[in-house]
Amino acid sequence: MGSLAAVRRAPRRVAVISVHTSPLAQPGTGDAGGMNVYVVQTAKEMARRGVEVEIFTRQTSSDLPPVAELAPGVLVRHVVAGPFGGLGKEDLPSQLCAFTAGVLRDEAGREPGWFDVVHSHYWLSGQVGWLLRDRWGVPLVHTAHTLAKVKNAALAEGDTPEPLGRLVGEEQVVAEADRLVASTPAEAEALIAEYHADPDRVRTVAPGVDLETFTPGRDRAAARAAVAREIGTPVGDDDVVLAFVGRIQPLKAPDVLLRAAAEMIARRPDLRSRLRVLVVGGPSGSGVTQPRVLVDLAAELGITDVVSFLPPRAGAALAEVYRAADVVAVPSHSESFGLVALEAQACGTPVVAAAVGGLPVAVADGRSGLLVDDHAAASWASALEQAAVDRSMRGRLAAGAIEHAQAFSWDRTTDALLATYAEAAAVRVAAPQGVAV
Ligand code: UDP
Repeated sequence: MGSLAAVRRAPRRVAVISVHTSPLAQPGTGDAGGMNVYVVQTAKEMARRGVEVEIFTRQTSSDLPPVAELAPGVLVRHVVAGPFGGLGKEDLPSQLCAFTAGVLRDEAGREPGWFDVVHSHYWLSGQVGWLLRDRWGVPLVHTAHTLAKVKNAALAEGDTPEPLGRLVGEEQVVAEADRLVASTPAEAEALIAEYHADPDRVRTVAPGVDLETFTPGRDRAAARAAVAREIGTPVGDDDVVLAFVGRIQPLKAPDVLLRAAAEMIARRPDLRSRLRVLVVGGPSGSGVTQPRVLVDLAAELGITDVVSFLPPRAGAALAEVYRAADVVAVPSHSESFGLVALEAQACGTPVVAAAVGGLPVAVADGRSGLLVDDHAAASWASALEQAAVDRSMRGRLAAGAIEHAQAFSWDRTTDALLATYAEAAAVRVAAPQGVAV
């Protein structure tokens, strides 16, 4: 395999497929989340190494140009597939043929063999990537980001199971992809055990964190002052600030944080005047845990005065929220990785997270945060009290959080992805063209 790798050049042009969500979208609301951040950060890192990246995504507005430069060396191509508005993620399987045709027509106007590899993100893109791979004779590398079987096994109350069509679609992509990139050993195991992936084709590549944006900062008081201005309530040094950051949907379980906050106050009424709960993010999906439902839940729990809802935000403004918090809570029912956990820790904020999916990798239990085995308000109240209210514990976890986050970087993620591309390309050279190996 080593000599074959030399026969084919290391991938220099990568077609990235992201059908259902654009790298230009603000993460933390709608369908935009960790996958968008992953695609943007790895594309930029590839471009820094001289690899040209073109990201194909669906055109969702007439305002979008056919092509936009995301960063030097990274283009976003908007593919017309169906009406711009009004199509939800669940409608997109009907547009995969149109999307694939759009990508093929775009490529047909170029020199033959333009792209060296296709990297698809999420199963909808995998369906497109599979055909591109066959037409172009290049390897398909696929990252699932979430898996329906894993998600369906841990549904939140009131959440809708993922449909059979997605399960079948995922199984097909798993069978077709030359390499499957999992974020954690748990995801790799799920691909093998639940989707019958060939273990030789699965590679585990940890996602990263932007250590330039998400830094501990020198002045927590300034971060708290910024939050105080936004919520219109003073936030002092002695106040206990708990934050949830992410898309507001049942799977992310922001309701668990609210119930835990109510329980903390019930146990220690003196906390009421010092406790602040920040919920940062926008609505996502059609589930029942929309911001409006959370507002009602806060009222029902009698903690309206404690909870503030803040809109999604980017980069530096998000880092301010992480820095202002004593603890960031990630109570998800299912989470393939949990970038929010890493970002918070990089800012020196311990994380209390559910012990599900990739979160035990993203959080070092007892060192950079605490993992909670269930979603009961009592368990969460105890863990949050330990991590946020106990100041010496908080200090120890904060130091551990910074150290733990340093072990992750998009630089390393990108090196591992490029190595995976090269390896997949080398193996395909050894096989008859168009035959998956
Ligand atoms: N995010 C953001 N602004 C917000 C809320 C979230 O940019 O207001 C980003 C956050 O920085 C993170 C991503 O959205 O990188 C969420 O990723 P995660 O893996 O935690 O969850 P996902 O959305 O993929 O389920």
